Amino acid sequence: MRNPIHRFWEKVQIPFYGDFEEDCWIWVGTKTKIGNGYGILWLKDKMVLAHRFSWEIANGSIPLGKYVLHKCDNRSCANPYHLFLGTQVDNINDMVQKNRQSKGLNRRLETGGPKTSPNASKFKGVCWDKGTKKWRARILIDGKSKHLGLFMLEEEASEAYQEILKGITNGK
Ligand SMILES: [Zn+2]
Repeated sequence: MRNPIHRFWEKVQIPFYGDFEEDCWIWVGTKTKIGNGYGILWLKDKMVLAHRFSWEIANGSIPLGKYVLHKCDNRSCANPYHLFLGTQVDNINDMVQKNRQSKGLNRRLETGGPKTSPNASKFKGVCWDKGTKKWRARILIDGKSKHLGLFMLEEEASEAYQEILKGITNGK
């Protein structure tokens, strides 16, 4: 079975132009009918919610009993910058929650990051995303930069880039 992180990012539409952090990244795969449109991804025989999966890619495992909530109120959005942890009864404007959220950010998995220049990678199409502390893959198609998602490992990001590149050279 293919790398679930690759399969996940293939179903997320990150805008070509515009702001990587500000804009919603829309899930274009299957969505829940009940609960109004949360993205779903099947991993083997397990169903995961897209926004929860995205949060875990960016931050590590979701603590037991915690919910991943949207700042943007857009349930099909999978932008990790728009997601935060809360309990079921938490309200978006709750100060207590803001506090918890920043604690959550501090618990982020440190995956190293570039040693030399701040955003550089040894792989083509890969750069470091400071906000999520993850590797970000991008490819230029017809002069437009297409985002391929965020990855814990530099190699994973590079694989995603190479896969798309192969698709383009085979397809055209
Ligand atoms: Zn959003």
